[in-house]
Amino acid sequence: MASNRRSSAEPGHTESMVIVEEVIKDQGVIRRYSKGRFLGKGGFAKCYEFTNLERKQVLAAKVIPKSSLTKSRARQKLMSEIRIHKSLNHRNIVKFQHFFEDQENVYILLEMCTNQTMNELIRRRKRLTELEVQCYLLQILYSIKYLHDNRVIHRDLKLGNLFLSDKMEIKLGDFGLATKLEYDGERKRTICGTPNYIAPEILEAKETGHSYEVDVWSFGVIAYTLLIGKPPFETNDVKSTYKKIRTNEYSFPEQIQISSAAKNMIKKILTTDPSKRPTINELFNDDFFKTGGSIPKLLPVSTLACPPSAS
Ligand code: ADP
Repeated sequence: MASNRRSSAEPGHTESMVIVEEVIKDQGVIRRYSKGRFLGKGGFAKCYEFTNLERKQVLAAKVIPKSSLTKSRARQKLMSEIRIHKSLNHRNIVKFQHFFEDQENVYILLEMCTNQTMNELIRRRKRLTELEVQCYLLQILYSIKYLHDNRVIHRDLKLGNLFLSDKMEIKLGDFGLATKLEYDGERKRTICGTPNYIAPEILEAKETGHSYEVDVWSFGVIAYTLLIGKPPFETNDVKSTYKKIRTNEYSFPEQIQISSAAKNMIKKILTTDPSKRPTINELFNDDFFKTGGSIPKLLPVSTLACPPSAS
C-alpha cells in the first residue's frame, strides 16, 4: 500500500483543503480524503476530521508520524492496537474503519464521535444524576462484556476513552493498551494503565499477574467519578495516588447524596483482592440497575450542558 499527500498551495486555502490520498496500487483504487478540523492530540497521534470525498463520509483520523515509530517497540504496539481494534464490532465501541500509510504518517480512520468524551462532559456538568449514570454504565458494561467475551482486556478504561456519538451513545475507544488473551486462564504481567484508574494488582506487579478484573476495577472508578465528580484516589501526585490505591483509601463525601445501591456497587468493585470483585456479567444484575422505573437507552443532547428534566 502506498499513498501520497498533496496540499493546496493556492492562497486563501485553509487547512481543510489539504487532500490526503490513499492509493492502493494492485487494485488501482484511489481514495481521497479532505483533512478538516483538528480534533485533539494523543500520545503520538494528532486527530483530525477526515471526509471521504467519494462517499462523503465524515470520519475521525488518528495521524501518527512515522518519525515517532522508529523504535520497533513503538511500531509493534501500534500494530497490536490496530490488530485488536480492527477485529471488534459492537455498537458501544468506536468502529475501526480503515488504516493506511504514506511516506510520513500512519492514518487510522475511526467512526466519528461528535460529542467528545465523558471527560469533557464531567468537566462541564461536574457530576451526573443517578439515572444518567445508570444509562451510561449499562452501555459501558455492554462494551466491556463484548471485549471480555472476545478475550480482550482494555486496560485503560477511563472517562477520556469513553466517547459520545451524535446520538449520545457511548463508544469505547483507544485500544493502545489492550491485550488479547491466547487462552482463558492466561495472566498478563506488563504494567500499564492511567494513574487514577489503575488496579492495585497491577501496581503490586503480583507474580500471579492480572486479567479481566483490572477492567472491572476501572469500571468502579468510572462509576464513582460520574456520581461524585472526581476520581476516588485522586491526589496532587501520582505516588500518593498509588499509595491510596494500594491501601484502598477512599471515601464518599458526605455533602454529596448518592443511593446506598450506588455505594454498595462501588464498594464491591473497589476491593483490593481481584478475585473478590464482581464479574461484568454479575454487574448487569446489580441492585444499582434495579430501579423502579426504566433506565433510558439514550439521553438527550441537552444533558451535555444540564441535567435531564425530572419529568
Ligand atoms: P489519547 O487517548 O492519548 O488522548 P487519541 O489519539 O485516542 O489519544 O485521541 C486524541 C484526541 O482526538 C481525543 O482526545 C479526542 O479529542 C480526539 N478523538 C480521538 N478519537 C476520536 C473519535 N473517534 N471521534 C472524535 N474525536 C476523537
